[in-house]
Amino acid sequence: MAALELETPIAYVKGVGPQKAELLKKELSVFTCGDLLHYFPFRHIDRTRFYKIAEINAELPFVQVVGRLTSKELIGEKQGRRLVAQFRDETGSMELVWFQSLKWVNDNMVTGQMYVAFGKPNLFNGTFSIVHPEIELLQSPLQKRGNQSLQPVYGSTEKLKKFGLDTKGIQKIQSALLDAVAAQLHETLPAYLLEKYRLPDRSTALLNIHFPPSPEKLRAAERRIKFEELFFIQLELLHTKQLRNLKFRGNVFDKVGEKLNTFYRENLPFDLTGAQKRVIREIRTDTQRGSQMNRLVQGDVGSGKTVVALMSMLLANDNGFQACMMAPTEILARQHFESVKALVGDGLVNVEILTGTTKKKERTSLHSRLEAGEIDMLIGTHALIEDKVKFRNLGLVVIDEQHRFGVEQRARLWRKNAVPPHILVMTATPIPRTLAMTLYGDLDVSVIDELPPGRKPITTVHLFESQRLRMFGLMKTEIAKGRQVYLVYPLIKESEKLDLLFLEAGIEQLRYHFPLPQYQMSIVHGKMANSDKDYEMERFVSGKTQIMVATTVIEVGVNVPNASVMIIENAERFGLSQLHQLRGRVGRGAEQSFCVLMSGNKLTREAKLRLDTMVRTNNGFEISEIDLELRGPGDLSGTQQSGTLNLKLADLAKDQAILQEARSTVIALFEEDRLLQKPEHALLKRYLDSKRSGISFDKIS
Ligand code: ADP
Ligand code: MG
Repeated sequence: MAALELETPIAYVKGVGPQKAELLKKELSVFTCGDLLHYFPFRHIDRTRFYKIAEINAELPFVQVVGRLTSKELIGEKQGRRLVAQFRDETGSMELVWFQSLKWVNDNMVTGQMYVAFGKPNLFNGTFSIVHPEIELLQSPLQKRGNQSLQPVYGSTEKLKKFGLDTKGIQKIQSALLDAVAAQLHETLPAYLLEKYRLPDRSTALLNIHFPPSPEKLRAAERRIKFEELFFIQLELLHTKQLRNLKFRGNVFDKVGEKLNTFYRENLPFDLTGAQKRVIREIRTDTQRGSQMNRLVQGDVGSGKTVVALMSMLLANDNGFQACMMAPTEILARQHFESVKALVGDGLVNVEILTGTTKKKERTSLHSRLEAGEIDMLIGTHALIEDKVKFRNLGLVVIDEQHRFGVEQRARLWRKNAVPPHILVMTATPIPRTLAMTLYGDLDVSVIDELPPGRKPITTVHLFESQRLRMFGLMKTEIAKGRQVYLVYPLIKESEKLDLLFLEAGIEQLRYHFPLPQYQMSIVHGKMANSDKDYEMERFVSGKTQIMVATTVIEVGVNVPNASVMIIENAERFGLSQLHQLRGRVGRGAEQSFCVLMSGNKLTREAKLRLDTMVRTNNGFEISEIDLELRGPGDLSGTQQSGTLNLKLADLAKDQAILQEARSTVIALFEEDRLLQKPEHALLKRYLDSKRSGISFDKIS
């Protein structure tokens, strides 16, 4: 077959053609030769391993057995018509069964002959069998690619299988493709890196990941491909970061003035923790050196990020700049607004709020005062990034609970000022280190890894439905002490109607156990009007109600230090990071707090692991690592950003070491050759240029 380019449509590969090409597009998003080449097997079957029949159990995904065909028989009628052969070795016997191509199989299988049979074992009536085994004469020469000891297994679909593209079919076209593109597989990594990390070259790696000659070569190929994936992501991220540092001037906040000093001396109601002080110092350093700050502050719930944000905003104000702070929800924006106002008091700075519900008239006035520079701090929701909102001199943007803001939204904020404002991103969901490095690899990261003093770790218990009275007991005891209780119900789109019924039933039961007028209840759920929500929230925040029944709208940020119990209904339906976020709503005062996870009796293994993890630890970073392993990065970050990662082979939960290696390699590389001018880096420079121009790298390499 003629040589193909990686951009060539897949239809031109031998054995594919237009019809299969269409299917590959639809089913696997494989459009070009390059796409197919990067459609990796998800497993390899070890064909060097042989089983004795006595060793077989039904748990094994595949077995390979050498034995003698001792008899065969065509039995059954119509659909059930099949060929059953007895297959023996010195340890026992099993059956080989065919339902299709009966005549061909019957004619070709010879009684008394030794065969190698391969397939998935089933146990039926005490006998093991393999249906439609792969079968070969013992000692028939293997003239295939690789040595076929490790056979690739590709993901396929029902439709693909109908057109012959099961794993075998895909193997075949991969093999044809490798022959046709072998000459096109240029190296993408500098030779000195291959040497340093002992990585195989690109074409060897691609060949060996599909058809490995040995387990060692397979591992080397995987390592190379993972390294390459992660390396280029880091190259782009750190390149972006570097460009920003080179190109953008940053507002210079070089003095601590009256506002911050007054606040620190007179308003701050507590001593800062060591971690808070450190992060504020880091922000001070970043904002006075004349380039744009892009910093992510990670801190577990309750670690005191708000005051760090506030002091940074005061710093901006002291240097003649405006600051804004963006929260993901209305309730949260309002709460930030209230607590910032409470903290800074009157007269020190001008703080305003802008959200989706701000009235037109107020909005117009806000807009003009903002442009006139009469507002020092603006707190709000996404409404802040609308183009209509113009600042006179925006110096700092704080984004709280980053997860819900994408990279693009961050970028829109930069454009709000001639000199892009400093960006401070706050996240309460600890992100595993690897994910932070990848999703936010262009940011500097600060960690508030210390809770304010006097906090007692939250006691978490997992209770089943039959133990509900214990939960009511705990509620009563705590309410009697003057504390408040959250009760959270799941409410998700897919099962909304049922969830609402469940919520209603729950409320009815609560009313029975917690009668009026002794007990007052706030109810907040996502289906309510915002004004009602706010009213109910307010009653709880101000202590008028003891019980807050809510769906997950309270997930983020709400702060009621007097609340000491968090009860989560149907806890098995929540993800780990969500559970941890919810639990973080309590334990904010000095009192002992509790989290009760209510669940049904039937739990999947994964759900059980989630609940057990919550009971075992309060450490958000540990929880986030487990969450990443369970769910993968896509779900975890809850944004489209993870989509842009598009990792084919590397796994952020498992490949931390490779990621670390890739990142430090790129850091060292830029330190040594900032503009990538060395000849050995020409390739990388072309890669980055091609990224910007949208031309495929392979086209120009
Ligand atoms: P989060 O990091 O979750 O946003 P907050 O900023 O809401 O946390 O702080 C949680 C609570 O801890 C608030 O009531 C806040 O006033 C209080 N707090 C913050 N820093 C300290 C500190 N250094 N000492 C005592 N309390 C603090
Ligand atoms: Mg917060």
